[in-house]
Amino acid sequence: MNEQNILIVRCGEVALKGMNKPYFERMLVDRIRKNLKSYKGVDVKRHEGLIFIRAEKDLDIEGIIKETAKVFGVASISKAVESESELNAIGSAAVEYMMDLIEKRGIKSFKVEAKRADKNFPVKSPEIGRIIGAKVLIGCKVLNVDVHNPDVLLHVDVRHDRTYIYEGKVAGFGGLPLGTNGKGLVLLSGGIDSPVAAWMMAKRGMLIEAMHFHSYPYTSPRAQEKVEDLARILASYCGRFKMHVINLLPIQEQIVEHCPEEETTILVRRFMMRIAERIAKDNDCMMLITGENLGQVASQTAEALVVTDASVKLPVMRPLIAMDKVDIMDKAKEIGTYETSILPYEDCCTVFLPKHPTTKPRLERILESESKLDCQALIEAAVSSQEIIDIKVE
Ligand code: ATP
Ligand code: MG
Repeated sequence: MNEQNILIVRCGEVALKGMNKPYFERMLVDRIRKNLKSYKGVDVKRHEGLIFIRAEKDLDIEGIIKETAKVFGVASISKAVESESELNAIGSAAVEYMMDLIEKRGIKSFKVEAKRADKNFPVKSPEIGRIIGAKVLIGCKVLNVDVHNPDVLLHVDVRHDRTYIYEGKVAGFGGLPLGTNGKGLVLLSGGIDSPVAAWMMAKRGMLIEAMHFHSYPYTSPRAQEKVEDLARILASYCGRFKMHVINLLPIQEQIVEHCPEEETTILVRRFMMRIAERIAKDNDCMMLITGENLGQVASQTAEALVVTDASVKLPVMRPLIAMDKVDIMDKAKEIGTYETSILPYEDCCTVFLPKHPTTKPRLERILESESKLDCQALIEAAVSSQEIIDIKVE
């Protein structure tokens, strides 16, 4: 039997990338290696159009599968055994594989699905299926063939120098390998939405850096720790990243003192965006990312989004813009941020919340209000007070 556990990793969209396919595959292999670097004795290689992970037998293979499934660009993973591409050898390996499943899961029926990737192999796919099926029937007396509803669908993938035998697939998230689509700065609050927004952009291959605003001492240090916890969950998908943290209180106080109360929220949001834009430019981030969602709250009406958008030149990505809240919540649960997001700590946006925020702000009015403030100086002061936190999985 094999001395190593073998995993076959299928890339989803990466496989469609035409001329750039080798580049995307290399990036994907790199990312898988990074995610598995805490395991000693794991080898990740491209071979014959697939990615193979070979792990020493005594390693925690389920853990390795879990970590691999988190790598963006991975469509699915199967645990396989290999043999020489020769019918008797394939037959013996298939029997051994099935004996193991009989012992572990008490399976009773099977069907063979053979595929001949190597067209020079002298036997055609359906015939390979019949031959291997017959060998399994002889070798495993308790098994029957069931073509309609088998306990196990046994895949036999005949390639040039090796043949791979496996059943079942663990689904990955798909998407594209990190680092194939630039870097974005996510405005990360402690809420449900922004972590999901960051995750969705990262899934399309974008590296992430984060920006968080607090209003200490109105917001507690625990509120910031919660955001750091969220950021660390993101880092388990996106790799290590920097989080810029800024106290927004001096700006909020100026706004409250000099501007109409109902405009507070939208004015604060425009400052957040402009500060984020500065930080983005200083750190090679090409875009801003927010968890904004059309109509969810007063600051996210169509009119408010237009006025918010007008504060910056960098493109603002809002991947959740048209999603329903329940679907965003489901996504948050799936990626593991939900439980942390719903912990009850205050956000800086809830400090100085106006009683009746304007839901249809007009840009001219907002610009007029801003003219009462020294915006540039406030932004500079905020940027130079930033604290940088190194976010990495512990
Ligand atoms: P979330 O669930 O992401 O907090 P939300 O529904 O509470 O979003 P808002 O509070 O209006 O909506 O915030 C909209 C977006 O602005 C957030 O998704 C986030 O990208 C950004 N944002 C809000 N508060 C902060 C903050 N304290 N620090 C950094 N970004 C923030
Ligand atoms: Mg929020």
